[in-house]
Parts: sequence; C-alpha cells; structure tokens
Amino acid sequence: MKILVATEKPFSTEAVKGIEKIVSDAGHNFALLEKYTDSSQLLEAVGDADALIIRSDKVTGEVVEAAPNLRIVVRAGAGYDNVDLKACSARKIVVMNTPGQNSNAVAELAIGMMIYMARNEFSPGTGSEIHGKTLGIHAYGNVGKLVARYGKALGMEVLAYDPFITDKAVFEADGVMPIGSVEELYSQSRYVSLHIPATDQTRGSIGYDLLTSMPKGGTLINTARKEVIDEAGLAWALEERPDLKYATDIAAGNQAELAQKFGKRVFGTAKKMGAETAEANMNAGLAAARQIVDFFESGNTRFQVNNF
Ligand code: NAD
Repeated sequence: MKILVATEKPFSTEAVKGIEKIVSDAGHNFALLEKYTDSSQLLEAVGDADALIIRSDKVTGEVVEAAPNLRIVVRAGAGYDNVDLKACSARKIVVMNTPGQNSNAVAELAIGMMIYMARNEFSPGTGSEIHGKTLGIHAYGNVGKLVARYGKALGMEVLAYDPFITDKAVFEADGVMPIGSVEELYSQSRYVSLHIPATDQTRGSIGYDLLTSMPKGGTLINTARKEVIDEAGLAWALEERPDLKYATDIAAGNQAELAQKFGKRVFGTAKKMGAETAEANMNAGLAAARQIVDFFESGNTRFQVNNF
C-alpha cells in the first residue's frame, strides 16, 4: 500500500522518520509531500495513494475524487473539521483522528495563556494571580480534563460543563464541580477555557451574552476553534466591559482590529501553535501511522469518526 504524508505545515523531522519506519517496517510504501503551496500539488500526490496522513490540511471532495485508491485518511490531531466527511463516506473511505495525542501540548498552552493574560502580557505593572480564582472548563474532553487537572494543581477552583457527560462522578473523581448549563458556567467563572469542537451546534455560539455574564476580570481562553466564537459579539462585549480579556490560539477574522482597539486585553498567537511541540508532533504522527498499519492488517477502525 502507498501511504502518503501530506502536510502543508510539516511534522518535525524526527516524527517523519518515525512514521516512515512504521510504514516501511510493515511492508508499505512511504511517500511525503511537505510545505506544498498549491492544492494542485496535493491533488497530484494523492493520485495513487491508498492511505493519507494529514495535519490541518484540507481533504475536500476534489481531493477525494483525485484519489481513486484511497481507503483511509488519518488526521494527526483531534479536530477533523478540515476533512469533508460526507465525500469520504460516499466513497467508503475511513476517516480517523488521533484523539488525546496532542492534548497535553494544548492544555499547557491554555494554562500559559491564562497566566500571560493575568500578568498583562508580561509587561510592567500590577497583574493578578490565577491561584484561588474560578476556572470554567467548557467541554470536558481530552484537553479539557488536563486543563482542569493543571488548574487544580495551581490552586484554582475548577468547574466544568459538558452536556455529553451525564455521569457526574466523572467530574467529581477529578475534584471538579459539574455545572448544568453553559450560562451558569460563564456566569460563575473568572476564567473560561474553551474546548468544544466546531459543529453545527457550536459554531458562533460564544458571544456577547455569555461573555458579559462573566464576573469582573472575566477572561476567555480559546485553544479550540475560531468558528465557535461570534466575533461581532466578542468585539461588542470587549467594548462594553473594559475588564474582559480574550486570548486565542486561532486568530479571529477581526484579530488585527481587536488588537488595535483593545491592546493588552486581547492576545492571539501568530499562527495556531497549540499542538506545536516536538512531543505532540511525535505522538500524533506515530499514532496516525500505527492506526493505518493496523487498519490494513486487521481492519481496526477504533478511531473512525465517519459513518457509512
Ligand atoms: P475531545 O473530542 O477529546 O473533547 C471534546 C469534548 O467536547 C467532548 O467531551 C464532548 O462531549 C464535548 N462537546 C461536544 N459538543 C459540545 C457542546 N455543544 N458543549 C459542550 N461540550 C461539547 O477533543 P479535545 O482533544 O479535547 O479537543 C478539544 C478542542 O480543541 C477541539 O475543538 C479541537 O479541534 C481543539 N484542538 C486545538 C488544537 C490547537 O492546536 N489549538 C489542538 C488540538 C485540539
């Protein structure tokens, strides 16, 4: 089988070597397309690929059409909103992610951003401490759980909301207080760390009402997706409440305008970097390769995210 790694933003060299080893040790052919500048390069490269490993690369209907042999796509990472699931399912192409493999990197960034905002972007002057403050975890998945654990270690009071986890014991086992609604979470949390996926239900769901319900000094940390933010509502809330702050790993469409208007109350990383650690690169890349090898060997579809 030909297994293609197609990454516009490449894996680390070490991770690529590791992927290549797993692929060739299993008797498959390894191919690499990195730093491509045009989608036509991807369309050409997938022409004879049986399997595809990607990062934030877009797998559109056109890519699927250009890849007649393709049987499996693995997104090395958590979110898979860059893959056209419908187009893949229509061709019975299995789509997987590698859940949990980069969660620690993202969780550490979220905590780092919280401290950065509390200390006025590390500029002179009096900041505040996160110790003793409330931290609301919005979605208690792989990343959210770790942020909760690190928040507790830093002496924060941790609350969490996740409508898909109905067993309160899951939260209580971590010393986290389960909250029954998103409104209650925001109104009770000085810090909110956002970990919801971008879905039809969540797109544009965080806006003016939730943000202005936060206590004084309310700070939203977004390491999830920019699409879940109602950007006009965010700008309006920041305008009306001079104490609110927003830090994001996924620059808003209006990030430059926000930065200019609200200065040190708003921060955005230059490029999404939550999963950009050597460790996360390695974990997610190797997991993707192993999942593909396992799929071809035994038909294992444990991490499949589409249905057909
Ligand atoms: P996960 O799948 O482990 O957890 C997601 C959680 O969201 C689940 O517990 C689910 O029950 C919950 N959820 C779904 N819909 C919800 C809703 N409407 N309200 C509240 N909770 C809801 O995912 P994860 O690995 O924890 O990743 C979380 C987010 O972080 C995703 O959006 C992912 O795309 C993003 N992410 C970003 C980076 C980065 O580089 N910044 C890296 C990895 C993941």
